[in-house]
Parts: sequence; C-alpha cells; structure tokens
Amino acid sequence: MNFNDSERIRGILRTMGYEPAKTWEEADLILLNTCTIREKPDQKVLSHVGEYKKIKEKKPDALIAVAGCLVQRAGWELVQKAPAIDIMFSSFNIHQFPELLNQAQAGYKAIAILENPPEDEDKIWEYPLERDNPYCAYVTVIKGCDKNCTYCVVPRTRGRERSRSLESILEEIKRLVEDGVREIHLLGQNVTAWGKDFKKQMHFSELLWKVAEIEGVERIRFTTGHPVDLDDEIIQAMAEIPQVCNALHLPIQSGSNRILNLMDRGYTKEEYLEKVFKLKEKIKGIALSTDIIVGFPSETEKDFEDTLDVIKQVEFEQIFSFKFSPRPGTPAASIENQIPDEIKTRRITELLEIQKTIMAKIAGRYKGTVQEILIEELRGKDTLVGRTTTNRWAEMKGGRELTGKIVRALVKEASPFNLTCEVLEVVR
Ligand code: SF4
Repeated sequence: MNFNDSERIRGILRTMGYEPAKTWEEADLILLNTCTIREKPDQKVLSHVGEYKKIKEKKPDALIAVAGCLVQRAGWELVQKAPAIDIMFSSFNIHQFPELLNQAQAGYKAIAILENPPEDEDKIWEYPLERDNPYCAYVTVIKGCDKNCTYCVVPRTRGRERSRSLESILEEIKRLVEDGVREIHLLGQNVTAWGKDFKKQMHFSELLWKVAEIEGVERIRFTTGHPVDLDDEIIQAMAEIPQVCNALHLPIQSGSNRILNLMDRGYTKEEYLEKVFKLKEKIKGIALSTDIIVGFPSETEKDFEDTLDVIKQVEFEQIFSFKFSPRPGTPAASIENQIPDEIKTRRITELLEIQKTIMAKIAGRYKGTVQEILIEELRGKDTLVGRTTTNRWAEMKGGRELTGKIVRALVKEASPFNLTCEVLEVVR
C-alpha cells in the first residue's frame, strides 16, 4: 500500500513539474513515505531526517516532507522531535499534497494531520501514478481495516475499511491496459473485504469477475486476503477465472490457537488449514505465502511448535516472518510476559531453517516443468526477467521484443528464489 501511495505521490510531483534528482544534495524536495508497522522504520525516519537537515543547512530552500503511516500514528510528536520537517501528511490526505507543497514553497510549515479520513479523500484517484514497471500495476481497491488485530497499528494509521467504487477501479484498470499493462494487482489491507461497506453490498468475487471482463487484462493478483473473509465464492472465482494467478498470500501469523485468540485474528489453526486445503484442492499447484509473527507476548515453546506444524503441513512457497515488535497504543504492547529478544531470535532462526528445506523441496518440483512467464524486464543485453503465475522470478535469454509478452518456458534450473528457463514459445 505504501509503495502504491509513493507511486501516486511521484505522479503528483511530476504534474507539479518536479523531476527526480540524482543526489540528495541537489534535491529541492526530499520526501519520505513512512511505514510504522514495526519499531525499526520509526527510528530510521528520524535518522534520515537528521541527515537531510545537514543538507538543508547548506541549501535553506530545500524542503523536507514526511508522509505515510508514521505521520498518522505519531502526529505532532514527530515534528517536535524533528523540527526540520516542512511538510507532513498521511495516507488520509495525499490529495492535499499539492496544496501543502505550495504552502511550504511560500515559506510556511505545512503540517496536515487528520483524525479521520476526510470526505473528499476519493479525489486522490484523479491524480496520475508514476510507475516503474510498464506491464504490472497495483490498483488500490480498499483502504483501511476493520479487523483490529491486537498487535497492529493499521486501523489507527489507515482508518476503517473504505472500499473504492467499482466504476472508479474499472476505469483505472481500463486506462492502465490502454497504457500496455497486462497484470493487475488489486491492493488493500484487507482486500477480500471489498464491497462489504457499500450501501448495496458487493462481494470481492464480483470484483474479480468484473476485472477479468476487461479486454487486455491478462493476469490478476490480489493482496492481502484475510483468512476470515476468504470464502467459497472467492475460492471458486479464483479457480474459474483464467486470469487469476496461481498464487495467494494468506497471513496466518501464528499456528497456536491460544496466540491467535490473543491476537484476535478471528480463526483457529484448524479453520485456516481447512481453507488452505480447499484452495489446494480447487486450484492445482497454487503457491501460497504467509506472514508469521514470532515471539508474540506469552508465546510458549508449545505455541511455537504449533506454528512450525502449520509450516510443515502447508509448505508455503514463501514466508515473511517477523519478530514481534510492540507498537505504541496497541493492546498487545501491554500484555505481560513479553518474550526476550534472544528467544525470538532463536525461534525465528529455527523457523527459517525449516522453511529453507521446504523451499529447496518446492524448487526441485519446478525443475523440468513448463511455466507461463510474463516478461517484465530486459537486463543487460539479453537477460529477460519475468514472473510465473505462481509469483516466482525467472530468468532466460532473449531480446527486447519479448518484454511485455507472456511466454512458455522450460525450467532448466530452480533455486529457492529463482528459476533459470529457456523460452519455448510466445503465448500472447
Ligand atoms: S487484518 Fe491486517 S491490517 Fe487489519 S488489523 Fe489485522 S494485521 Fe492489521
């Protein structure tokens, strides 16, 4: 979501006549779009602003802007800690950025922190995006989250769920396809809840069908689905719509029912596994990935074993694992019995070791198969890079004329993160 917001911010800057600078020193504006999901990014932002302040001392007209989730969470506290900041706004009011920039250029502090998303936030869809990838595009379809998991700051930083209208989404996708985009990645904190907040409710599966009807949409992905909202209709749509990719990111966070309950995730290990096995049965060869938090307060060795058990049963193609990081103001931050860092480190290392073996095993299954790959980039003279429908990076030899094409390729070598292939034919 932050990445997509950054693309929108870059689009706004382009329309205002800004060009990317080659060095920090020559920049007229330095903008940081921030994340606050863990503690580390918070600290990084302050240290970056400290560096930029030194540049500003030599070039007083240069402006420093901070956007994103940290602004929404920390608000005025942030500008008190880092008074060199000239402009501040969050994901609630990116559409106000042009106004704030004008204000700062006129020599005023331009700090706009809102309690709630404003009524005119949909204006943001009128601004262009600047993307680096000409063939694959993110499209935000829902903002915010209503789930309130006890460790998460997102409901505070991005507000309650607000689905984007079907018309607005389809309009953007049609424009993207006209520009040559072939893969659409639908985005949201909880994308599978799309449409539930409309007066006349809609279901996420209807959105998938509507997107697939647009001529020129070759591939559809979506992130992030919540296990509670992933129902039979969505699984059926995924199985039936040819353009929906054979991959799904479905965060489990923990395999222990006691911890899942403390996290308020709304499902049990068994319910999660039931959905996973249904997905595997209906969509042959689906590649699953997940998020896992290690060392949630009070997590015992037994709880951790339950998580390892899920990993072994599901065999995820990729796991994004994190040590629990207490976020200010969240219920989990004040649960007694926080887990010492050395235990979290030991557990995450063990988890990654097991995952390494699983990934090597999965990689072995790719070798010798034929995959459909969307070529996204030419690197160097003749190395093409693209992704399989299962979201695996693949490299092969070929020329520029193949970029943007979907090819069928034979997998010659497979490592846990990469495939080396040989192009057999161009599909379309
Ligand atoms: S569903 Fe995701 S975004 Fe929403 S509160 Fe839970 S972890 Fe945060």
